[in-house]
Amino acid sequence: MFRQARWDEPLIYELSKEGLIGHLVPEPSKELVDSVGARPEEMVPAAMLRKETPLLPEVSEVDVVRHYTRLSQMNYGVDLGTYPLGSCTMKYNPKICEELASDDNIVWLHPLQDEDTVQGILEILYKLERWLCKITGMYKATLQPAAGAHGELTGCLIIRAYHEYKGEKRDEMLVPDSAHGTNPASAAMAGFKVIRVPTRDDGCVDIEALKAALSEKTAGIMLTNPNTLGLFEKDILKIAKMIHEAGGLLYYDGANLNAVLGKARPGDMGFDIVHINVHKTFGTPHGGGGPGAGPICVTKELEKFLPIPVIEYDPDNKKYYLDYNRPYSIGRVRAFYGNIIPLLKAFVYIMSLGEKGLEKVSEVAVLNTNYFLTKIKSVKGYTLPYAPERHRKHECVISAKELRKETGVTAEDVAKALLDEGVHAPTIYFPPIVEEALMIEFTESERAENIDRYAEALRRISEKAYKCPEELKKAPLNTSIRRLDYVKANLPKTVVLTYKMYIKKLRKSNSTGR
Ligand SMILES: *Cc1c(COP(=O)(O)O)cnc(C)c1O
Repeated sequence: MFRQARWDEPLIYELSKEGLIGHLVPEPSKELVDSVGARPEEMVPAAMLRKETPLLPEVSEVDVVRHYTRLSQMNYGVDLGTYPLGSCTMKYNPKICEELASDDNIVWLHPLQDEDTVQGILEILYKLERWLCKITGMYKATLQPAAGAHGELTGCLIIRAYHEYKGEKRDEMLVPDSAHGTNPASAAMAGFKVIRVPTRDDGCVDIEALKAALSEKTAGIMLTNPNTLGLFEKDILKIAKMIHEAGGLLYYDGANLNAVLGKARPGDMGFDIVHINVHKTFGTPHGGGGPGAGPICVTKELEKFLPIPVIEYDPDNKKYYLDYNRPYSIGRVRAFYGNIIPLLKAFVYIMSLGEKGLEKVSEVAVLNTNYFLTKIKSVKGYTLPYAPERHRKHECVISAKELRKETGVTAEDVAKALLDEGVHAPTIYFPPIVEEALMIEFTESERAENIDRYAEALRRISEKAYKCPEELKKAPLNTSIRRLDYVKANLPKTVVLTYKMYIKKLRKSNSTGR
């Protein structure tokens, strides 16, 4: 069984000792000073020079190296073991993508370089755009948004611009109650009123409720297909027709495109805008807020609203260039041209797999989910709510409602107990339409043996719950950090410590009369 290294590792601020130095800045040579005519500190305008040293920990180089090495050994990642975080798509990221993304020709590029000197990366980005459009069945893309949620916001702003262009006042965005939380948030940020659409017992959008919600105020709908339950929306063509006839647009949350890669395209389903989380579907290690990129692809009709700049190719001069001359554009959404590194990794990922490979990605991801379900269905305490007879796509949501009712053990306790089993917990309590939700997504990364082990761990936890539930309430016991106090965890120790150091320093400077 995998166990993480357990160090009693303090914060780097706690390691701080006055006078310790990690890195010495070399003295400038006499020749350099003579040739410039000044020492470096004399060249900085007086107003910009610090009066006091910044509040940084004072540590030696070896302290720093040991500290971060120990932290890395306490950490759990997809390179260490199974990480089936539903909706977040934590997949293995091929090292070839990392290697090429850290090539000197990439990392030393500067966004202010002349266009003529960056033709290579522009070509890569242009081709990636074309590929993403082909994969989604759309017309034109922008790679600028820095994450999925940012793509959603960009898409919502385009929907707004489209209705304004047509001279229509439409301010209502329909969002199913199974949607990712970023959907209603993005719609609200773009100025829309969010109208919640309920889910039927079969896990799909309630068509009757949708019909009732449509009006001349409807700007559009934000849909995830397959939805967060892992179910493909059977009525998608009917829904698209209804929305379009009402004058609205369809937005596709394509964060988890590995569910349908090479099998179905949002464009063919009737969607007008799609965002893609390249950091999920096309591999880039992500978590804790980044790094990522959330390109969006749109139909021909919406092309003119895309953010500036748009990468174009001039066949006469055989040159790629950034086009800023777009009068209907919603404007800029990101500095320069977005997060180049995750985009480059996506380019390498797609290129290394090719069309057939991408199709296989979704086949294996879907197979893994359904293989897991066959293993877990018979385990006491867990159920599969919403259309249990239907196959799931890239992920599934099981409920620990029965387990809680019969033993008091909650989805959270199960998640903590899984850490003791040496694997990562799934996403819990999402989507909110499932009570005691455990949302599991193995992706295509896992072999059957690893899925077997995960199902076995869940079975052991269920058995323990019926025998000695109080023990599970104490989990995790094997990890460096035990169960957190959620209130205290919201006030990071670093903040408290920096504050204390600041106060100490203030007192000291007061006592010396400064
Ligand atoms: C992850 C995710 C998002 C948000 O993407 P970020 O890159 O985290 O902003 C939106 N929708 C779904 C379905 C997701 O899984």
